[in-house]
Amino acid sequence: MKDLFGREIRGLRISLTQRCNLNCVYCHHEGESAARSEMTADEVIRILGVAKTVGVRRVKYTGGEPLLREDLAEIVRRTLELEMDDVAITTNGSLLAKQAQALAGAGLKRMNISLPSINPCVYSSLTKGEIKDTFRGIALAKSLGMEIKINVVIMKGINESEVDELIDYSKGVGCSLQLIELEDLNLDRGFFNDHHIDLGSLEQRLASKADQIEERLGMNGRRRYIFGDSLMVEVVRATNNPHFCMGCTRLRITSDGKLKPCLMRSDNLVDVLGPIRQGAPDSYLRLLFEKAIARRSPYYVGPSLQ
Ligand code: SAM
Repeated sequence: MKDLFGREIRGLRISLTQRCNLNCVYCHHEGESAARSEMTADEVIRILGVAKTVGVRRVKYTGGEPLLREDLAEIVRRTLELEMDDVAITTNGSLLAKQAQALAGAGLKRMNISLPSINPCVYSSLTKGEIKDTFRGIALAKSLGMEIKINVVIMKGINESEVDELIDYSKGVGCSLQLIELEDLNLDRGFFNDHHIDLGSLEQRLASKADQIEERLGMNGRRRYIFGDSLMVEVVRATNNPHFCMGCTRLRITSDGKLKPCLMRSDNLVDVLGPIRQGAPDSYLRLLFEKAIARRSPYYVGPSLQ
């Protein structure tokens, strides 16, 4: 199904909890404020069954920290049983020791792991966690054959100078690297103003140094920079980027079961968990999806839409 701007809905990003074992200073909390409840595994799978009827084929689990859900492997297994094309999680990686094996057994093949700094002190000051736990998680997931993308939100005056080290580290551990521009959401305005940096010049630098550049089909021409024969680096620049919004094919679900048409907005949510708990049939849930899709509009608007 397409929204009013011709954008196909292909992906669903589902927040499974707002709970987190870390406390990252830059965290946008997936655009959520305090959640009142969490979806059960059955409710998540029921929602996905309906999502499939509007075209969703790619599912990403996020949070909070999704590894705090003890039923994460069950959720992943049941999502794969729905024959989705792609199922992945995004995690801080520090709790993988407990669940990595079960996740691999459930069929998970891909995860994004957040590593906001390669420096142990900077990592701790940003997250209140220990970098060794995340390093251990990365090594474990790798040993189980997972494809890993390391996520780094780049911040001026904090970790912007670490890019070359992050490239070397990612190459060394056989992961790809995703450098993300800081988004202004659920953040202190002063923090954003002090630390936001437009990643345009970084992307130019990568382009000049890369051995190969690929354009990603279906991702609005987002580029991948390849170093040597294996290291892949991507840059995500959503802030103030109408081109990014026009390429968005993703709907979201908050941890308390509300369809969220856009990361950046919370005034157009459509509750789906309430109706499920009141016994609504799938046909009604499908109407709720249609309503949320009709509410999708690009957050950053280019001249052609103004
Ligand atoms: N706890 C998990 C983790 O650390 O990946 C999942 C939740 S976290 C909110 C999901 C993703 O959002 C991570 O890749 C993180 O880097 C990214 N993120 C968090 N705050 C951000 C911000 N202000 N701007 C851009 N990306 C952000």
